[in-house]
Amino acid sequence: MNILVFISCFIFAITFGFSQDTYITQRQDMVNNQLKIRGIVDLATINAMRAVPRHVFVPENAQKYAYEDRPLSIGKGQTISQPYIVAFMTQELRLQSEHKVLEIGTGSGYQAAVLAEIAKEVYTIEIIESLGKRAKEQLDTLGYQNVEVRIGDGYHGWKEKAPFDAIIVTAGIDSIPKPLLDQLAEGGRMIIPAGPRNAMHLLLVTKNNGKVRTKKRLPVRFVPFVRGRN
Ligand code: SAH
Repeated sequence: MNILVFISCFIFAITFGFSQDTYITQRQDMVNNQLKIRGIVDLATINAMRAVPRHVFVPENAQKYAYEDRPLSIGKGQTISQPYIVAFMTQELRLQSEHKVLEIGTGSGYQAAVLAEIAKEVYTIEIIESLGKRAKEQLDTLGYQNVEVRIGDGYHGWKEKAPFDAIIVTAGIDSIPKPLLDQLAEGGRMIIPAGPRNAMHLLLVTKNNGKVRTKKRLPVRFVPFVRGRN
């Protein structure tokens, strides 16, 4: 009996260890073949993308595709962006370790984890309750203590925690919400997919000496930003 238990444990350890190794290798390949090659150079972003286990944020049947060069479904009609887009948006924010960041569209919680690897505090808002709850659980399981998840319409931002050094919006909207502009700190940066549905771009918004500047960065497609009742 004891020998059987021992053999089972041994096989489990080998299998488990092996699958963890596979994911680490896949993550390393993702960084080299999808990110660095396309111009992701920010070291903090690269380290975060290498550290966060993307596969645990996607449904079990999609885990084997987690490190592929594409977006994945996370349920409720929502998607987790392609790794390159997550890295690109993160890099655009030029995050520092003392920064406070606001994310609108928690989804799976993956982007929040990437931000939490770099910044001091991450506040993230999700409008679909079940997704927000699951993301919070996952972030807690992984031990991210610097992320707060709130359920609600992110259009209004998170006034009590403002101003933010960086704001990232991960759902596509026609124009930039005024409350988010107001909650961006002086010297802050915001990245947001905005514009008409068939011609959406990632916009980089900066605020310097109170002056807001907007620059088109990349043509993109994102799930729509929806409005709550409040
Ligand atoms: N950043 C996510 C991907 C998000 S997909 C990740 O890493 O997994 C976009 C998310 O934005 C969806 O979960 C959608 O429900 C959410 N969303 C859409 N409109 C919103 C709003 N007004 N406020 C907050 N979240 C919103």
